[in-house]
Formats: sequence, structure tokens, C-alpha cells
Amino acid sequence: MRRKPLQANEWFPWILVYSLVVAAPVFIMLIGPRPEGRLFLRDLSVAVAFCAMSIIGLQFVLTARIPSLKRPFGSDVVYYFHHRISVVAVGLILLHILVLAIDDGATWRLLAFWSAPMRARFAVASLLCLVALVLGSISRKKLRIEYITWRITHGFLAIGAVAFAMTHMQLVGIYLGLPWKRILWAIYSALWIGALAYARIARPILMKLRPYEVRSIEPERGNAWTVRLSPIGHAGAKFAPGQFAWITVARSPFADLEHPFSYSSSASNPDAPAFTIKAVGDFTAQIPELDVGTRVYVDGPFGAFSVDRKPSASEFVFIAGGIGITPIMSMLRTMHDREDTRVIHLIYAARTLGEMTFREELEQLQQQLNLRLHLVPTVAVDDWEGLSGRVESTMLDKLLTQGCRGGDCEIYICGPPPMMDALEDTLVDMGVPLQRIHTERFNLA
Ligand SMILES: Cc1cc2nc3c(=O)[nH]c(=O)nc-3n(C[C@H](O)[C@H](O)[C@H](O)COP(=O)(O)OP(=O)(O)OC[C@H]3O[C@@H](n4cnc5c(N)ncnc54)[C@H](O)[C@@H]3O)c2cc1C
Repeated sequence: MRRKPLQANEWFPWILVYSLVVAAPVFIMLIGPRPEGRLFLRDLSVAVAFCAMSIIGLQFVLTARIPSLKRPFGSDVVYYFHHRISVVAVGLILLHILVLAIDDGATWRLLAFWSAPMRARFAVASLLCLVALVLGSISRKKLRIEYITWRITHGFLAIGAVAFAMTHMQLVGIYLGLPWKRILWAIYSALWIGALAYARIARPILMKLRPYEVRSIEPERGNAWTVRLSPIGHAGAKFAPGQFAWITVARSPFADLEHPFSYSSSASNPDAPAFTIKAVGDFTAQIPELDVGTRVYVDGPFGAFSVDRKPSASEFVFIAGGIGITPIMSMLRTMHDREDTRVIHLIYAARTLGEMTFREELEQLQQQLNLRLHLVPTVAVDDWEGLSGRVESTMLDKLLTQGCRGGDCEIYICGPPPMMDALEDTLVDMGVPLQRIHTERFNLA
């Protein structure tokens, strides 16, 4: 996945705050009386561990779905950062142990769980939780661990890693002696617990207060169903076309059994949101069996994949693969409702024409929008006069106007991960600036 450069004014404040929170314990550690006879190496190892601890605690904030944090970056960037920085944190913890061992070879003995003193046992327990967290996330699909099982385990391991590490720090006690240093860590703990409480208690309460019910379920091409919702006792949540929400169906919002889906309906009607869902696994296969009137909870909107973030663009290119058409459909429907006359190119690839979700409506939209539609079956068909096969550079070369490579043209891609990776590379090789390429990935985890 390519990382696009963001506007400095969007990310700079967040990166600054993040860096300060990570580094603050090190600066504060250096203020005030230091333990006598401490060697540089031992101080260094503690400083490294403090930074790791801050990073690990901040993971709760990153995953709490705080809207103002997700807005500038988009959810996929926040999750990507969350994954990568966790590896950094484990690396820092290992460095902490290594530096201690360089200073004093006897440190290795502290890793022997049963014979080690209590303070070291908590450190080992925390490290084991962290390693399990990272390995579990990297190899979940290879190990065929069910998403929900992984997610619940992930939550417990994360809480364990932080709780054990904090206990280890308190038992070691070095650099925590002064009351105000203890206060600093108490504030940090409150921040992490606050983020956890927001995610696990406050947000579900908010969802419970603003329920929805299933109004209709309609079959679509491509083994998908459109689920239309009606808000109960409220006006619905405003969203930008292309965004997504986390949906909990027929369960309590506290059950933590939610799934992300892009809005497929027009953002002009927030009181009638719709999601189009392809059956791929346990949850999505049950969608056609839902009854009208079933209670649904919606947490959202989230995401930065929206034409609304580029109001000055004069031309848009949408590239969709399979069910990746949903956020793009929301953008097209919204642009239609807004009587938007800007030029739109849509390249929509699916295995066959018959599997192209919303095909008839897309063909109709050609008459109502300034839309150039290119349906691309990836399996060749004899009587098909349009393009077919994989969407790649020769095809894009034919379809993209000069304006799309430079100018005020924005490109939005949503489809299977291999298609998205290949297209990002191809477009960049064709000279399209990375900041004009926007992606929505359906595989956050
Ligand atoms: C931002 C975003 C927008 C999406 N929009 C759509 C859409 O409009 N239409 C659509 O059909 N699909 C969409 N998806 C994909 C959809 O969330 C998954 O297909 C669905 O959650 C699969 O659940 P399952 O139990 O049926 O399948 P499973 O076989 O259990 O899961 C298949 C894969 O889906 C992912 N997944 C499963 N459960 C979850 C979960 N609770 N949270 C996050 N990921 C999960 C995992 O990567 C898993 O390996 C979107 C995903 C994301 C991240």
C-alpha cells in the first residue's frame, strides 16, 4: 500500500502531539534528583522503555475511532500506523532488555519467569502479551483465526500488556519516586483508560440512543444485498458520500460484533441510509435472512474516501472492482442529487457483466450525470464490444484523458487489495501524483 503525502496543516498538529506524548516521560525522567551511581546505559534502557510504554498506551487512543483524529488521515491510515507502530513498540521493549543485559549480563536470568522476582515476571508477562498481539495480527489470515475471535483476544492481550507493564514500572519504582512523576503516569493511565471507556462504553451508549431498523432488503447483482435503514426517533447521521460506518445487527451495541460497510446511498438523504453487502462469510451470508424491523446500530460515519474532500476538482476518475463499487455508488448518487456537472469516468471491473452490482442504475446514470462509464468484465465475453480483462496500464492509457494525469483530476479506487496495489503503482508510474490517488480498503484487519 502506498502512503500518500498529506497536507502539512492536517497532520502536523497530530504528529506533534503524538511525538510529545511519547517523548514526555523521558524529559520528565531527567528532571529532578536521579538515583545515585546510575550508569548511562541503565538510564538509556529506562528511557527506551518509557517511550515504548507511551506508544503502547496510545494505541488505545488510535483505535478508539475518535472522529477528529480519523478525519485528517482516514481510517486505513490510522490502522496502518497502529499496526506499524506496534512493531516499533515491541522493538523498543526488546532494546530495553538488550541494553540492560549489555550493562549487566545477569539481566537475562530475569526472563526465567518462575524464578524471577515479581517485578520481572510482570515485565515478561507484558512482553508475551505484546508478542502474541503482533504475531496474531500479522498471521491471523494464515492461521485462519476467525476475525471475531482474533478481535476479542486482541482486546484482552492489549489490556494485559499495558496493565502488566504499568505494574512492572511501579514495582521497579525507579524514576517514579517523586509524587508528580507518579501523577504524570496517572494522567497517562487515565488517558488510555478514558480512550478504552470511550470506545467500549460511551460509543455503544450513543449508538443505543440512536437506533435504526431494517426498512427493506433487496437483492443486487454480484451476490449482494442492499439493506435500507430507517432511524428510530432521530434524523439519522449526516455522512459524506464514500464514507463508511460500523454496523451491529440484531445485537446489543455492547456486544462488540460490528462490521464496517460503506454507505451506498446518497448523502443527500441521511435519514434513509443504505448499505450494499456482499455475502463472503458468516455475518454477511445472513443478511438476506434479516427481517424487516430488525434493530440495527450504526457507528459512523468514518473515512476520508470522498469527493467532498476535493471540492475544487474539475474531473473525477472512479475505479471499482467487485463490491468496491459501494462507496463510489454513494458518490455518484449524491452527485446526481446535487446536479453536479463535473466530468466523471467510472471504470468498473467484475468477473462478468452479470456480477456487476448496480449495473442497470450505472447505465442510467450515464444519461443523468456527465459520466463516462466503462464496464470491464475480467472474464472475456464473445459478443462484448467494450474493454475486458485486468485493468492495467494500457487500458488506463486509453481511458484517462490528459487532464486525469495532471490538472484538477482526483482518482478514487476501491476493490480487491491486489487490484488496488497494482493500480496505485501503475498510476504513479503513469505520472499521476500520489496525493491525487484516493483509496478505500475493505481489509482494515
Ligand atoms: C472500510 C470498509 C468498508 C467496507 N464496505 C463494504 C461494503 O460496502 N460492502 C461489503 O460487502 N463489504 C464491505 N466491507 C467488507 C466487510 O466489512 C467484510 O466483508 C465483512 O465484515 C465480512 O464479515 P463476515 O463475517 O461475513 O466474513 P468473514 O469471513 O468473517 O470475514 C472476511 C474478512 O472480512 C474482514 N472482517 C470480518 N469481520 C470484520 C469486522 N467485524 N470488522 C472488520 N473487518 C472484518 C476480515 O478481514 C476477514 O478476514 C468493508 C470493509 C471495510 C474495512
